[in-house]
Amino acid sequence: MDSRGGDAGVSAREEILRALGEQTEPWDVLVIGGGSSGLGAAVEAAARGYRTVLVERFDFAKGTSSRSTKLVHGGVRYLEQMNVTLVLDALRERGHMLRNAPHLVHDLSFVVPAFSYFTLFYYGFGLKVYERLSGKLSFGASKLLSREKTIEMLPGTVREGLRGGVLYHDGQFDDTRYIVALLRTFQELGGVAINYVEATGLLQRGGKTVGAKARDVEGGAEFELQAKAVVNAAGVFAEDLLAMDGAARGSLMAMSQGTHFVLPHSWLSGSSALMVPKTADGRVLFAIPWHGATVVGTTDEGVDRAVVEPRSMESERRFLLDHIERYFGRRPRAEEILSVWSGLRPLVKSGNGKTSTLSRDHRILVSNSGLVTVTGGKWTTYRRMGQDAIDHAAEVAGLAKVASRTLDLRLHGWTDRSAKMAESERVYGSDLPLLQKLSEDEPALDGLLHPRLPYRLREVVWSARFEMARTVEDVLARRTRALFLDARAAIEAAPIVADVLAKELGRSEAWRDKDLQEFLAVAQGYVYEEE
Ligand SMILES: Cc1cc2nc3c(=O)[nH]c(=O)nc-3n(C[C@H](O)[C@H](O)[C@H](O)COP(=O)(O)OP(=O)(O)OC[C@H]3O[C@@H](n4cnc5c(N)ncnc54)[C@H](O)[C@@H]3O)c2cc1C
Repeated sequence: MDSRGGDAGVSAREEILRALGEQTEPWDVLVIGGGSSGLGAAVEAAARGYRTVLVERFDFAKGTSSRSTKLVHGGVRYLEQMNVTLVLDALRERGHMLRNAPHLVHDLSFVVPAFSYFTLFYYGFGLKVYERLSGKLSFGASKLLSREKTIEMLPGTVREGLRGGVLYHDGQFDDTRYIVALLRTFQELGGVAINYVEATGLLQRGGKTVGAKARDVEGGAEFELQAKAVVNAAGVFAEDLLAMDGAARGSLMAMSQGTHFVLPHSWLSGSSALMVPKTADGRVLFAIPWHGATVVGTTDEGVDRAVVEPRSMESERRFLLDHIERYFGRRPRAEEILSVWSGLRPLVKSGNGKTSTLSRDHRILVSNSGLVTVTGGKWTTYRRMGQDAIDHAAEVAGLAKVASRTLDLRLHGWTDRSAKMAESERVYGSDLPLLQKLSEDEPALDGLLHPRLPYRLREVVWSARFEMARTVEDVLARRTRALFLDARAAIEAAPIVADVLAKELGRSEAWRDKDLQEFLAVAQGYVYEEE
């Protein structure tokens, strides 16, 4: 089987499905869920030499992992909560993410504006501790800024009452492009991953979990995947799989929703981010330059039901508008809000506190049946979560003990030339010349998807051919970030994307029209409407 899975669109996928259906020898590890936790575990397992398969019921990163604030960080807030172990772990992972994927992670300077001298010195001290905790993996020194320097670094923000600021460094990344790099690394290590295949039940024998029932969401075929260990990395849906294993719902996880607004770059026209460590109700708020726009977020609202496409709540939109007004001096007009996206945090339950005070530590749960569930944590700690999950999976399955090999594993696309590349091209890393060759061979593919978006038609072909994109939404939301950056532009670009994608995948006109309509229905939820 060609485990790279992207060489020829439909036929490569059919080949993978056929091989999966015909497989009689059990896999060493089956991972359910294609977010950061699942792909982290899959790469970990494959790097140790375990025969590994991963299934994702929608697209890779369709869940929480595409909806983050795009920070690779230790978490200043967790330091304030005195969770030093989490901060230390995350800072170490941050450093390795930068080393292993410099095309996807970069240093960003953050400025905390101080409106009192107490704030200035309190955060000046705290952020110095934060910097020191990262040791040799530091992203840069933190320092106090004068009022003038703070204004220079945060143009467009309010000046009244400003005393100065604190500068510190943290990481920023493109979460879904990182998922694609993990996917391709996993494939290069011999792993098999497939999207649009759902785990519909667990296979159990003698009280032990020995695999899963699977269904091809596109074609409807059902088959079984036998495995010595099964890792449940289903994010906010992890309790559905635990329920299939006989566990009571509601015991392990809590959920909280976070929403972001995307504003034009002019709102924060410099290259530094704004960080508000404590809003009036005690939350952390960021305004961050990202792919030529300004991302503002996030909120933290407890929710009791997991949904696939969470929508922003009125209270969240009000919170963001109020705080934008407080720190930028005016509310954005509806048309200035280019996109609104929401995500659900899978959190480990502990008592009845507010979700913002719940720990961002991860937890591994091994059920009596041997099902290994990995939940909680942060994007930044995905590798460590994968390592811990596979340590447990190897024990459950009786696999040969192999030490972790991922801490210094370079990810697909690694290059030492990324600093010289434009932001929208850097995410392809060492693949960039191959991507460019597509439009050298077929110049029509050089056309932009939309005048307001930095993407070209060649990226549609590339993502279907090499990155397992199956739908217009896969291309516009997760292979490119069009939907997250400018929802109205993404909607306008969708018909041409549907044309190119249908041709590349050998699909019919009817498929093209249906897929386009499905994208438009989802995308409408990212458009901000005046209340
Ligand atoms: C608003 C917000 C902002 C955040 N910002 C940051 C940040 O800046 N930095 C940071 O470090 N962390 C951040 N986080 C946390 C981070 O995004 C999450 O911890 C992480 O993405 C969770 O990944 P996951 O793989 O566990 O879940 P998911 O990404 O949701 O993946 C689970 C996957 O399992 C699939 N699945 C479910 N059931 C099945 C099934 N039966 N069969 C097959 N597949 C199935 C789902 O479709 C989904 O794709 C943020 C979280 C939120 C909500």
